Amino acid sequence: MPVTALARKSPTTTAAMLASAASTQSPSAIAQPVGWLHLGRRVDNRPESLATWRVTTSQLSVAAAVADHFVVATADAAAAEDDEIEVMTRTPTMRIIVNTEAITVDMRRWGQGRLVHHCDGAAFLSPPTAAGSPCGCPRSMADRKALAKAGRGPHPSVTVDCRLAQAPGLGMFRFQSASWKLAESLPTVRAALAATGGEALCELAIRRVDVPIGGGSHLAYRMPALTVLGPWG
Ligand SMILES: [Zn+2]
Repeated sequence: MPVTALARKSPTTTAAMLASAASTQSPSAIAQPVGWLHLGRRVDNRPESLATWRVTTSQLSVAAAVADHFVVATADAAAAEDDEIEVMTRTPTMRIIVNTEAITVDMRRWGQGRLVHHCDGAAFLSPPTAAGSPCGCPRSMADRKALAKAGRGPHPSVTVDCRLAQAPGLGMFRFQSASWKLAESLPTVRAALAATGGEALCELAIRRVDVPIGGGSHLAYRMPALTVLGPWG
């Protein structure tokens, strides 16, 4: 799909596309993003969190446009995985345009490089032979978290498809996160999105969280936070 077609796609069209998709297809199977937003990266095969957004794309023109619209630390071809172009911005907050249908969440547990539990919290979503049957996950978020922490339950996988408010014509960017906090915030986010009645301007921020662990020490980590600012356009 051309970038311009994506950029001009109305929420109604998106809803119609989703409705016409096969039940086993995720929205990600329908439209492919022109780029990805990341709050981390892998260094020597270990995950590292970042204080500012990292953008990857396979398109040179998209990388150049992102570098034009944001204060950028580096823009490197082939710095990221899969020969993608990596743009390291200096911004901890991205203004993005989203609609309700563009945010999806499911639960995934990986084992030895393959998806061993894929559900919506109540029923399996895949493989096709198991889809729809009860998955056995606990109902409460606290119990799900405990099970995931013990390595026996799935983590949330939140996908946010959006356009960049500074360059809406570039097309769709995708952000994916396994953050429980982000997953827990989605009902509030969805209610705020619904209240805007269409596309909304949102802020996607990288927040630093400090947890005291005793003895004057702190454990610091970063998490994504999505806030609806108001209607777009
Ligand atoms: Zn499950």
